[in-house]
Amino acid sequence: LKAPEALFAPHHRNSRGWDLSDAGVLDHIEAARRVPLPPAGPLTVAEPSGTTRPVVNPATGEVIGEVTEADEATVARALDEARTWDAPASERAATLRRAADLYEGNFGPIFATLAREAGKTLPDAVGELREAVDFLLYYAAEGENDTRSPRGIFAAISPWNFPLAIFTGQIAAALMAGNAVLAKPAEQAPLIAAMAVRLLHQAGVPRSALQLLPGDGATVGAAITADPRVKGVVFTGSTDTAQVIARSMAQHLEPGTPLIAETGGLNAMIADSTALPEQAVRDIVASAFQSAGQRCSALRCLYLQEDSAPHVIEMIKGAMDQLTVGDPWHVSTDVGPVIDRDAQADIAGYIQANGNAVLHRGAQPEGGTFVAPTLIRVGGIGDLEREVFGPVLHVATFPAGKLDEVVRDVNARGFGLTFGLHTRIDGRVQEISEAVRVGNIYVNRNQIGAVVGSQPFGGEGLSGTGPKAGGPNYLPRFYAPEGADLAE
Ligand code: GLU
Repeated sequence: LKAPEALFAPHHRNSRGWDLSDAGVLDHIEAARRVPLPPAGPLTVAEPSGTTRPVVNPATGEVIGEVTEADEATVARALDEARTWDAPASERAATLRRAADLYEGNFGPIFATLAREAGKTLPDAVGELREAVDFLLYYAAEGENDTRSPRGIFAAISPWNFPLAIFTGQIAAALMAGNAVLAKPAEQAPLIAAMAVRLLHQAGVPRSALQLLPGDGATVGAAITADPRVKGVVFTGSTDTAQVIARSMAQHLEPGTPLIAETGGLNAMIADSTALPEQAVRDIVASAFQSAGQRCSALRCLYLQEDSAPHVIEMIKGAMDQLTVGDPWHVSTDVGPVIDRDAQADIAGYIQANGNAVLHRGAQPEGGTFVAPTLIRVGGIGDLEREVFGPVLHVATFPAGKLDEVVRDVNARGFGLTFGLHTRIDGRVQEISEAVRVGNIYVNRNQIGAVVGSQPFGGEGLSGTGPKAGGPNYLPRFYAPEGADLAE
């Protein structure tokens, strides 16, 4: 493991982002909104084939583009044509930096695609593009002087909730190490993936080193993960899918073939009675409801100390009433739609099944795949059967003096991604941070939006294998084992 100070990578700079109060930026975004979204399809060396279907905006149901999904023959040809990227590391780094510039230069079309295809609010789209750029720049800086060899072909399987940032982060790390990448984007978000891959190719990434294979898990995902030529898989998504991939890889298991998986979470926050209520409520609401709760890092189960709980719960309800739920394109929207009708039905069904325990619901706009922010009373995190990937916050209370039991319950649940703590007792920060087994701990702030290069992100237990993305131990896993630093 590198020393903690190395986490702050002095040679790395982060994206400056975009100011959504700047009229020039807003004009540019507004103009991009009117431009039709280019179609998506396999971006491969050989001529692809497959079936074409429409892509739908989750907020409106409107058809916004189309995608051709790779068939088996296209996947097979992509595997045959994949070649590691033999350019010197310095050239690969320079190419990723050019790609970062192209991403930034295309912020209008990128925000438009993220809003229309993935229902991202504009502030979320800004955060997502910044993170994608940060990954490109961070891995370029980490790897530019590295002389190690790539593993070979890497499969990169990415989620719809960060269809640009996580998609790009996986690819950037694999490419920076010189691997050939076969990227399978989430079925719900192929348009943004195709836009990103076109920009990476335009920056100079050879087509044989980066091929895009849109399609479903059963056709594309299964074929690439089961192929013995694939020497590593990087995956973000559900714990169940990670297990399917692990089984598929087991068909050709060679010692050391990495599966780098970031999976689900059941994330808790504790706010004791010394916490500042205004600050805690702001951070609770952001952690639970920003991105419509569709972050792995999102707060799912809040523990409030009994003596301050009634007051804080009233404040949370008030803050929920202030959230604007609706069209992600409006700059004042706080909570956009969930990703599709299946997700909406699943979350709505869960809320209905727990109807007796619902303490409060926010606004529910007509039409679209919206879900009203919802607060549900529970006894503790053990009552949560599963991760509900939407704007649903559970709240439990604990008596003073029973903090140890809360921490035990959180650890016993088996997930270990993020954890939040609001307290003004310094000793408690120390004690709880040491006791709780999670990847990312946030104190007196929200628990989402890890920043590449300063807050490496990833979990333990059922939440993932590590190493953490955007940190110094990630890139080493993408090099061939000889002489590689395989430390977590
Ligand atoms: N890195 C994101 C965050 O800190 C979450 C990633 C995810 O949802 O997979 O909010």
